[in-house]
Amino acid sequence: MAEAVEVLLEIRGLDKSFGDRKVLQQIDLEVTKGEVVVVLGPSGCGKSTLLRCLNGLEPVQGGEIRYRGQDLTDKKVNWREIRQHIGMVFQNYELFPHMTVLENILLGPLKVQRRNKQEALKQAEQLLERVGLLDRKDAYPRELSGGQKQRIAIVRALCMNPEIMLFDEVTASLDPEMVREVLDVMRELARQGMTMIIVTHEMGFAKSVGDRIVFMDQGQICEMTTPQQFFTQPETERAQHFLDIFQ
Ligand code: ADP
Ligand code: MG
Repeated sequence: MAEAVEVLLEIRGLDKSFGDRKVLQQIDLEVTKGEVVVVLGPSGCGKSTLLRCLNGLEPVQGGEIRYRGQDLTDKKVNWREIRQHIGMVFQNYELFPHMTVLENILLGPLKVQRRNKQEALKQAEQLLERVGLLDRKDAYPRELSGGQKQRIAIVRALCMNPEIMLFDEVTASLDPEMVREVLDVMRELARQGMTMIIVTHEMGFAKSVGDRIVFMDQGQICEMTTPQQFFTQPETERAQHFLDIFQ
């Protein structure tokens, strides 16, 4: 029996400028529940800006972003609430240096979500176990490797029980030997059905984990297709050129 398609995010005609510089132009994108969308494109094409718009970190100049029907471009949107549903992990971890791993993870669940401490702690420990870092729960960020910090940053976002996860080049600052341990965590999330938008330059990962590839160039979506199609028969010259460089 076919499952009903549930649209979680609906982006229509999104425009974003910095001053008179247009950085996103007429972006249209729908993300359905359980889908993994991988966003590819050259540096400076607007990938981070797109994710930041979806997390309320950048005001937009035109168009609509709807999460379960609610327009997120409305000035009255409560981003503190929305960010509990749409979690984001950045390139540079951004863990609080003066807090332990557990304190970092529990901050949102306890202070923002006002959850029961025992219940939140139990979930945090389960998540840490899943990424193989339960034994580091009392460590400080400075005592961790880059790959460990990034896995903690992912756990911290997951502990808010988001419905969608946004990942912005989360392996880009890591030494090569640590890239894999972080990608494996994301691969496992995909397998469990998490809805994700992933910006990455890891082409093998994009190919194997993405349900859909969105290729951007100069603030626009140039191609939106399956990994199979994109990596074997890109439609545009710009995508072909991009693949020549990155593969
Ligand atoms: P990507 O993530 O694809 O490398 P970005 O979204 O970071 O691209 O940037 C897209 C464009 O917007 C770039 O030209 C960048 O210089 C510009 N840009 C990004 N952030 C700002 C900002 N805060 N102020 C002005 N320009 C910005
Ligand atoms: Mg970027």
